[in-house]
Amino acid sequence: MEKQNKLDLEVVILGGGFAGVYCGKSLLKTLSKGSRGRIGLVSDENYMEFQPMLPEVVSGSLSPRHVVNLISLRAGSSVESHFR
Ligand SMILES: Cc1cc2nc3c(=O)[nH]c(=O)nc-3n(C[C@H](O)[C@H](O)[C@H](O)COP(=O)(O)OP(=O)(O)OC[C@H]3O[C@@H](n4cnc5c(N)ncnc54)[C@H](O)[C@@H]3O)c2cc1C
Repeated sequence: MEKQNKLDLEVVILGGGFAGVYCGKSLLKTLSKGSRGRIGLVSDENYMEFQPMLPEVVSGSLSPRHVVNLISLRAGSSVESHFR
């Protein structure tokens, strides 16, 4: 049997980088609770990298875990996160 991959969302944001995560946060702030609908963010990774600090990771002055954040924590619990 074929797997169903249907998302029941009113707004879909593609990509969990800076643009996607901050778009989700901004929509939550801008739209009132009643008019928000269901906002979903689809990304291939469940984390977001803070790219400006990658050179510090490469040089060894920062640990990789200090420049990655879980998308679900960054975007806020009202944005549904889907990873594929
Ligand atoms: C070393 C470095 C330093 C930087 N320093 C600065 C700085 O000081 N100031 C500044 O303003 N900018 C800086 N930038 C640039 C900034 O990081 C980027 O402009 C920004 O990350 C772009 O955001 P984005 O959301 O468009 O893309 P990304 O952050 O690349 O996000 C794309 C997202 O889409 C997801 N994705 C991609 N393809 C698919 C797919 N097929 N299906 C599902 N998901 C997918 C990826 O997993 C990722 O989560 C720097 C970049 C680098 C590399």
